[in-house]
Amino acid sequence: MDRNEQQAPHNVKRVQLPSGKTIEVVHFGKAVEQDRDLHRCPACESQLVYPTSWSEADESSWEVTLRCPECEAIREGIFAHATVEAFDEQLDLGTDALASDLARLTRANMAAEARLFVGALAADAILPEDF
Ligand SMILES: [Zn+2]
Repeated sequence: MDRNEQQAPHNVKRVQLPSGKTIEVVHFGKAVEQDRDLHRCPACESQLVYPTSWSEADESSWEVTLRCPECEAIREGIFAHATVEAFDEQLDLGTDALASDLARLTRANMAAEARLFVGALAADAILPEDF
């Protein structure tokens, strides 16, 4: 028997809304989008697109809601597992870049505060009662 004949013609997914109501979302067929660069906004070309939600659509694809922080574009789609994995790697690279920038900023702030403190000590502007 053909494997496709055993599958339902559409997928029904129950989603609970913040209000507590439950709705059924019906996906007809398997409209997997071919977009390979989910981190890139098709509207403004920003490379800062991030997911606001994602869930497994079936065993080989994910339903993802994407948001662009630069033009506020929001889109939903069903994407192949490999596409979502590549997107996840891009998100990891973005997280690493942010963590690296944060560490550099923290060091720069600490160095600036240390210079100010040394200057205040040299000017006798810090007294024991300041502590
Ligand atoms: Zn955009």
